[in-house]
Amino acid sequence: MKARIFEIKRFAVHDGDGIRTTVFFKGCPLRCVWCHNPEGLEMKPQLGFYQHKCVHCGACVTACPQNAHTLQGGKHTFDRSKCVGCGKCENACLNGALRLYGKEMTVDELLPLLLADREFYETTGGGVTLSGGECLLYAEFCAELLKRLKEEKIHTAVDTCGFVSKSAIDQVAPYTDVFLYDVKAFDEDAHIRCTGQSNKRILENLQYIDGLGKAIEIRIPYVPQYNQQEIQSIAEFLSKCKHVKKVQVLSYHNYAGSKYDALEMENTLPKQLPSEEEVRTAQACFDVL
Ligand code: SF4
Ligand code: SF4
Repeated sequence: MKARIFEIKRFAVHDGDGIRTTVFFKGCPLRCVWCHNPEGLEMKPQLGFYQHKCVHCGACVTACPQNAHTLQGGKHTFDRSKCVGCGKCENACLNGALRLYGKEMTVDELLPLLLADREFYETTGGGVTLSGGECLLYAEFCAELLKRLKEEKIHTAVDTCGFVSKSAIDQVAPYTDVFLYDVKAFDEDAHIRCTGQSNKRILENLQYIDGLGKAIEIRIPYVPQYNQQEIQSIAEFLSKCKHVKKVQVLSYHNYAGSKYDALEMENTLPKQLPSEEEVRTAQACFDVL
């Protein structure tokens, strides 16, 4: 059994308590306009070409079996339609201009990488977080990985958008210490505007996890022109949940522009950023829960 991973981030401090290693799974059922991980949206592997780092050495041209790279008149062209995501050009490029997002890994390959930082987890109350994209698109794989981590007494967190099947939740819940759960809007139309999908299943699944008695941390990406009007209704909804331990309003940033360019994806990032004051005001709605 394999899953497609696009990043393994060590020493993460924003993905649950303590120092953690976060595993990012590739593929997501939502299309949030503010997504800062565009490399995690598609299930298929994607090559990022960071043009500003290219020194036109031609190593990728030689390495690619698909002839996807060409150098002509000092100009490097990459034909994405020919790329099969083998990663040979990434290995050949010594300048970091190419990055393959989405490498297949087994649980046995991942586990030693995650256990390497056990000491940091133990001294800081940290652990391992599965994220994405949407990690629960690989529910069976996640369940096996989480089970093995629990056998090693590692604290586990699952970061989910909630747009998943109940059976996916059932598979991972026994081995998950805390769910990090994204809530973007309460009103269904507002949610569709933000993410392209209804939030019915997301809110139902949140209640379902709450009913299982699992600890939940809510994360609300705050993008004023999309969900400023939603904060109060989200707070009312969450006040009825029994196992929500923390609610975090996350200030939106638009640093991901270069990744959209490198992947030749349409950059949907809103230009307007929230002020610190706006984020504090939004957060205050939850501090009374
Ligand atoms: S990932 Fe493989 S197929 Fe794609 S451009 Fe690089 S070498 Fe060619
Ligand atoms: S190997 Fe890297 S630096 Fe060399 S031409 Fe290809 S992308 Fe540019």
